[in-house]
Amino acid sequence: MSRRVDRAAAFIAALLTVSITGCGSTEIEPGGPPPERQSGTRLAAHLSEMGPAPAPQRSNRVTSPPARTVHFRSDFDHAITAEPFVHPEKSVEGRPLRYWVFGTGNEVVLVLGGMHGDERSSTEAAYDLLEWACDHGDGLGDRKLVIAPDVNPDGNVALTRRNARDVDLNRNFPAQNWLIEDGGHGPGLYPASEPETRFVLALLRMYAPTRVIATHAAAACVNWDGPAEALARRMSRECDLPVEATIGYPTPGSLGSYLGVDLGVPTITFELATKETVGAALDGVRRALLVGLLPDPAGAPAAAPLGGLSGPPAR
Ligand SMILES: [Zn+2]
Repeated sequence: MSRRVDRAAAFIAALLTVSITGCGSTEIEPGGPPPERQSGTRLAAHLSEMGPAPAPQRSNRVTSPPARTVHFRSDFDHAITAEPFVHPEKSVEGRPLRYWVFGTGNEVVLVLGGMHGDERSSTEAAYDLLEWACDHGDGLGDRKLVIAPDVNPDGNVALTRRNARDVDLNRNFPAQNWLIEDGGHGPGLYPASEPETRFVLALLRMYAPTRVIATHAAAACVNWDGPAEALARRMSRECDLPVEATIGYPTPGSLGSYLGVDLGVPTITFELATKETVGAALDGVRRALLVGLLPDPAGAPAAAPLGGLSGPPAR
């Protein structure tokens, strides 16, 4: 186990008191699920009590825990012990489009990484959260977490922002402001023309998330679309990234335009500070993403339902 994972384990031990009984378990405890929002409340309480990340601790354990099957290993050496789901359609170059699901709750948080292939840190941060979920996904209470850490695998391999057909996936969503113009910004021939965009739309249709967080780099801010300003501020407090109402340039056909502006779903564009790797900011980034999983505080206005979501256009 790497030193990074040891540190993550110590962090998490301080964070949660859930038992580690398996990975991505869908079993419901006898006597029914935990009380509404119980685990989220516990997570919130722990987060509020936490200081800086604790130093790695020497384990008193005498015997080793039983070995767990590693189903997937990320480029950043995350050992992912939950089995992925694979979207039926592959990327343009034929790579699998993977995602993972944890928990059985009705409140669904969708986390997307790597939409821009050259923003490697965005993939790393999502895999880091995924590795956390492998150990703690059974303590999500009324939450369900859906993670697709590598939305643009061809771009990730080629280190290009766009996919293998030179389309910017974050300009290819069927938002009202989708724009072909001269095509210089890579919107695709029509909205949802790309298999990777359709992958994300399929996740939205299947899981109807009540909140979506997409990791990007390197605008170094927490940006929001839809009714997510308060969430952006809560996440910002956990890391060094300021809240920004706009990225600073137009983003027609973006996920935020489609989901946040058009459909009213709280959508966070979590812009990391560096592109290659999250580096030393990882603990704060992880804390911010964990806060992103928490329920809204009591009294917060409810988000609009996903009534307008009907999937990709039939073209
Ligand atoms: Zn990006």
